[in-house]
Amino acid sequence: DERPIGTRSRTREILDTYGLSFKKSLGQNFLTEPAILNEIITTADLTTTDDVIEIGPGIGSLTEQLAQRAHEVLALEIDQRLIPILADTLAAYKNVTVINQDVLKSDLATLVRDHLDGKHQIKVVANLPYYITTPILLRLLDSDLDFTQIVVMMQREVAERLAADSGNKVYGSLTVAVQYRMQVDIAHIVPKTVFVPQPNVDSAIVSLTKRTDCTESANDFKAFSRLVKGSFAKRRKSLWNNLLALYGKDESTREHLTAALTAVDISPGKRAEQLSITDFVRLANAINL
Ligand code: SAM
Repeated sequence: DERPIGTRSRTREILDTYGLSFKKSLGQNFLTEPAILNEIITTADLTTTDDVIEIGPGIGSLTEQLAQRAHEVLALEIDQRLIPILADTLAAYKNVTVINQDVLKSDLATLVRDHLDGKHQIKVVANLPYYITTPILLRLLDSDLDFTQIVVMMQREVAERLAADSGNKVYGSLTVAVQYRMQVDIAHIVPKTVFVPQPNVDSAIVSLTKRTDCTESANDFKAFSRLVKGSFAKRRKSLWNNLLALYGKDESTREHLTAALTAVDISPGKRAEQLSITDFVRLANAINL
């Protein structure tokens, strides 16, 4: 068939041929707009020097475009019903490996070692299942894999939280957790009408690249994460009140916290949303708890 999988007519045909019904519980909203697929591909700037990990290939609309440009594509799909369909729709592409696994349970480092040659840059490119956007992202970032870029479609609201600057009301612990490691850019806002079935919300294509301006890093990443989460626990309270709730209210803790805040020149009366990523890093290192 000459038509790309990601056209509405071809997608309909594939769904009919295999009698496939959507599983809402798996976030199955298939992309049926070649211009948007192209936008994802362009954002990821793929060449044959790249290997790609895709999460949730569905019936293969994005996978096909990836396979045409990248060196190898490794795709993880949880829905076992889609595996034989993908074998069919992607039969022409010898550089695609589809694995029937839950991305949240899979050992990405091992999969990469077993299926990719280790000689190519690795990018993640995916139209994510929205019900698990955040856990997938955090899992990718926590894996020790050195992705050169992550280009993912997600719900617009989450994209805006990820990309927020300090002071913005959607700037929060997720923003800090992600921006600590990656530069976040919203490449494109995508209307819900390009999906079958339509989701309830608009989407966005987000590009995550490694930060190059990172001058300071947390001495203890776990302690840093704990500080960030604790600082945002009660958004309307001051940083000081959140820190006391997190570390304790006794006199020696108060003295320790006051000294740390003074050392990094952060006023205890501020709110967490006013702290930059660097502020959090410095504060975590100064508190050292
Ligand atoms: N890539 C296709 C496209 O763009 O049309 C499908 C995208 S659809 C939004 C999300 C896909 O992720 C579905 O195929 C779904 O079955 C799959 N999926 C859902 N949960 C998953 C998980 N935990 N691990 C791997 N794939 C998952």
